[in-house]
Amino acid sequence: MSKLTKLLSACGALAFAGALAAPGAAMAQQKFITIGTGGVTGVYYAAGGAICRLVNKDRKSHGIRCSVESTGGSVYNINTIRAGELDMGVAQSDWQYHAVKGDAVFKDQGPFKDLRAVFSIHPEPFTVLARKEAGIRTFADFKGKRFNIGNPGSGTRASMEELLGAMGWTTRDFSLASELKADEHGAALCDNKIDGFFYGVGHPSANIQDPTTTCGAKLISLTGPAVDKLLNGSPYYAKATIPGGLYANNPDPTQTYGVLATFVSSSKVPAASVYQVVKAVFENFDDFKKLHPAFAHLDPKHMIKDGLSAPLHDGAVKYYKEKGWM
Ligand code: GLU
Repeated sequence: MSKLTKLLSACGALAFAGALAAPGAAMAQQKFITIGTGGVTGVYYAAGGAICRLVNKDRKSHGIRCSVESTGGSVYNINTIRAGELDMGVAQSDWQYHAVKGDAVFKDQGPFKDLRAVFSIHPEPFTVLARKEAGIRTFADFKGKRFNIGNPGSGTRASMEELLGAMGWTTRDFSLASELKADEHGAALCDNKIDGFFYGVGHPSANIQDPTTTCGAKLISLTGPAVDKLLNGSPYYAKATIPGGLYANNPDPTQTYGVLATFVSSSKVPAASVYQVVKAVFENFDDFKKLHPAFAHLDPKHMIKDGLSAPLHDGAVKYYKEKGWM
């Protein structure tokens, strides 16, 4: 259902209920917000679900009904918020940064002036998985192999292109550069359709747990001069380690680099809506952290500033000031 139809049918239902009880009451109050996430096996989808669950718990008092949409990922979410078709969404901090500047994948659209940061969430180390039998030890071994670079619209794909650029590679350095969605790459790996994939994702994630358990897929580190160049040249990249033993058949830590997942919106979305969403998350913070293991180490002090390049949304600022955090 489109947002408009949902809104109209809700108004209809309320108006009808109102006609029986208190005419006109509450009708103007009912609001729908939609959060753009990623594939259903990733962490964004769980993050959106966790946020909506906490918002919807108090629906009766604030009149907001929150729903999540599974999408192609960060770049899609930012573009769709810009088009006014999503109210909020999850996006990698590197793509939030580029959207503000209007460069890289956002060059054609120019700076997204209305983009607003709400808070950052979990770290997303860039994660490379190789088929056990593919004989891969370092990322360079993927030359001439079948590699999944991610679906267009994902932050994963856009960040993969940055890495290839820094290495002086193009997609032609692979024998096959597939564009499968994150929900499909694990099965493709275990079915010997690809030799590896790249994914910017929080840990632990069911998406990585599956191929490591099912077919013994191996985590591959991302280090070396190209990665150092990226780390030195950009404020949004940081070194990251995927702990040893987090996934089956991968007892050793994996050195890589990564970004943060961030929650974003637009200045066109009312402050009152963003305020309620932020309030729902932080007033129920212990519950929020329990809704996904990748949220276990979250700390509000960092969430309200790290990885945020767009200005904070007014609705978020209002809540952070009330709490004395700003
Ligand atoms: N960072 C990924 C992307 O934007 C999505 C990760 C997830 O869904 O958890 O492509």
